[in-house]
Amino acid sequence: MRLRGGENAAHGRVRAALGQDMNYAEIKKYDIANGEGVRVSLFVSGCRRHCKGCFNSIAWDFAYGKPFDGAVEEELLAALAPDYIAGLSLLGGDPFEPENQRALLPFVRRVKERFPQKNIWCYTGYTFCGGALAESRVNTEATRELISLIDVLVDGKFTEELKDIRLKFRGSSNQRVIDVQKTLKEGNVVLYLA
Ligand code: SF4
Repeated sequence: MRLRGGENAAHGRVRAALGQDMNYAEIKKYDIANGEGVRVSLFVSGCRRHCKGCFNSIAWDFAYGKPFDGAVEEELLAALAPDYIAGLSLLGGDPFEPENQRALLPFVRRVKERFPQKNIWCYTGYTFCGGALAESRVNTEATRELISLIDVLVDGKFTEELKDIRLKFRGSSNQRVIDVQKTLKEGNVVLYLA
């Protein structure tokens, strides 16, 4: 179901009141580069990491792109529905900038409820640590729950000196491809891909 214009506006006002405003840079509905299988990928706007050699510096600006609103959520949910879609990938910008976490959490909850059989991959320049992030300034009330809903987290700052094009699903060798569900269960970081 697509929200009507008036409902979208109301949805937008609720989001703004809750500090859940976010822009997104791009949506790919048949992405095979950012996770396993054919995926729906959402590139959010806003990143304060500013890694040297970043592939997507245009999306550092939180105001770049278009508003992530109820209609966009519905569009993504519809794109996720076909059986051949393996899941959702969240990239940026950085999905774990505090304002982006708050905007993404309600949407990711919806994705998990609607498609429990599909997986969620997420890319962040921050560092996973003990179910939250090592950089304490970006931990919010949404962080732990958002992480708990993710299946695979690619973490760590992109480091140009450690760039290796042979690596799968990550840009530099300091980054990790983490199996979040096993990690949370076992209490130690379990890599999805070594
Ligand atoms: S964290 Fe990602 S989006 Fe942000 S600067 Fe680094 S590579 Fe670019």
